[in-house]
Amino acid sequence: MPTGHLRVLFFLLASLPLALLEWWWRRRVARLGYDGKAALTSLAIGVGHVLSALLTAAAIAAIYALAWRLAPHHWPLRDWRTWLAGFIAVELAYYGYHRASHTVRWMWATHAVHHTPEEFTLFAAIRLGWTHLLSLGWLFYLPLVVAGFDPRLVGALLAFDLHYQFFLHTEAVGRLGPLEYALNTPAHHRVHHASNPAYLDCNYGGVLIVFDRLFGTLREERADEPVRYGLAHPLPSRRPAAIVFGEWRRLLDALHVAHGPRETLTALFGRP
Ligand SMILES: [Zn+2]
Ligand SMILES: [Zn+2]
Repeated sequence: MPTGHLRVLFFLLASLPLALLEWWWRRRVARLGYDGKAALTSLAIGVGHVLSALLTAAAIAAIYALAWRLAPHHWPLRDWRTWLAGFIAVELAYYGYHRASHTVRWMWATHAVHHTPEEFTLFAAIRLGWTHLLSLGWLFYLPLVVAGFDPRLVGALLAFDLHYQFFLHTEAVGRLGPLEYALNTPAHHRVHHASNPAYLDCNYGGVLIVFDRLFGTLREERADEPVRYGLAHPLPSRRPAAIVFGEWRRLLDALHVAHGPRETLTALFGRP
């Protein structure tokens, strides 16, 4: 839906003042420094993400429309209970999508782009992959449509989820008291972006953190283990194209040296 992506673009522009405020805070108050070049790289990759999403939106929308036609029951859009159930269902689907994106190499190839920033800022939030259609992350929301949730509702709730997560990418916000229990917060998401072995593969939630509690993937930020951001195995180049296709290249290299169907399958779908 093009209007959806225009909304994302508008959101990014509206968020610019906040990103500037963070820039000032990091440099003048917290004395953390600010990698302006990395921020510009994130901006370039973010723009590319919106363009790639625009190009592939029609294909994904057509598949969702087909699933909607096959759904045996349609839950009414004008009922708050549909939205409440839809919200929880989308959060669960997002958890599954995000966890798979970290554990299945084919999906990691796209998602890894978001984990390349070595400085945790609001700009890092928009560093998103360009190959979402190929990595099949959108498959995770298809069962919701088949279960009778209108694709427009799924799209709106997913957009809310992703917009919410923009605000999590900052070191300027500490812990948020009782909110930490139910919601994904900057503290939870900092740990998710950590490359320290002690913090790997945790905190997959979108808006809610409750599914991490439920499925045992929650880890708390520890004072004795400062977070190191970025990939556990950093990419050799910081050029946008090298970042966007870096993990695909590694996947192809692994395929190249794989012997037999077992090693080929591991190279494609094993753990990154
Ligand atoms: Zn992630
Ligand atoms: Zn993130």
